[in-house]
Amino acid sequence: MRALVLTDQVCYDAARPEPLCDRNEVLVGVSVAGICETDLQLVKGYMGFRGVLGHEFVGIARSGPYEGRRVVGEINCSCWDCETCRRGFPTHCPHRTVLGILNHDGAFADLIAVPQKNLHLVPDELPDDVAVFTEPVAAAYQIPAQLPLARADRVIVLGDGRLGNLCAQVLAGITDHLLVVGKHPEKLALLASQGIDTAMLSDVERSRAADVVVDATGSDSGLPTALELVRPRGTVVLKTTVAGAQTMAWAPVVIDEITVMGSRCGPFDRALSALAGGEIDVSGLISARFELSSGVEALEHARTKGVLKVLLDIAPE
Ligand SMILES: [Zn+2]
Ligand SMILES: [Zn+2]
Repeated sequence: MRALVLTDQVCYDAARPEPLCDRNEVLVGVSVAGICETDLQLVKGYMGFRGVLGHEFVGIARSGPYEGRRVVGEINCSCWDCETCRRGFPTHCPHRTVLGILNHDGAFADLIAVPQKNLHLVPDELPDDVAVFTEPVAAAYQIPAQLPLARADRVIVLGDGRLGNLCAQVLAGITDHLLVVGKHPEKLALLASQGIDTAMLSDVERSRAADVVVDATGSDSGLPTALELVRPRGTVVLKTTVAGAQTMAWAPVVIDEITVMGSRCGPFDRALSALAGGEIDVSGLISARFELSSGVEALEHARTKGVLKVLLDIAPE
């Protein structure tokens, strides 16, 4: 099969062996896949991953109870048997693999092996180009799943890129005081067109007034900036995974008693219902699409300034 493989660099492999399924897994024929910041970080060395990249996908199950039907898949492959899984935290299973991120081949390929338990059926009315956003939309819904938010809370999303946009759309439905702070006028304009308040980073007063600041910058400057905006006893939510180590002064976190909350994968059911119900609009987010065979170029393009989501067309229409 064809695949986009990360070794020391990213290569297109037209003759990659098909993935082997373990007893809990089924094969999914990938239709469309999305490139996310994590993929770009993996290429830079994050997690030391080697294998087929890709964890945002929609496809058709080739076997199992959903055979022949359109599916999306959660990315954490958990054991469901250990203490952590049994306590209800399977996404933190210490034995897990993660599609396209940790010890498991991913979705930038004709076929991906996915645990049947991870699959969700895609509602018929949801086109592939919308369903492919399920994973990042679920990640955005993880914020309210972890942190109770009130209408009156003042929330800032730092970052106007792919994930920042989705976090903003999710939070706009929850708080009346949302501000997205970014560096790209055209990306901010897209959010403004959806009725969301925006500001350029250079124009934002460091007033330390926000109850919650979400860092979705994909940059190691995000956390220090968040700490300049959050109020004492406020919360900083980290949605960004950055390759390499970050150094910064932690004393302000202690002095101001800031809660720093990491936030990763979220609820697929909520994401699918939000996409199907039109609560989240991804139509403005697709910047470009490439064939799988041009995947190296697609990853390069996804790094370009001003680009939001880049899709890979994998199955022929
Ligand atoms: Zn992702
Ligand atoms: Zn487990």
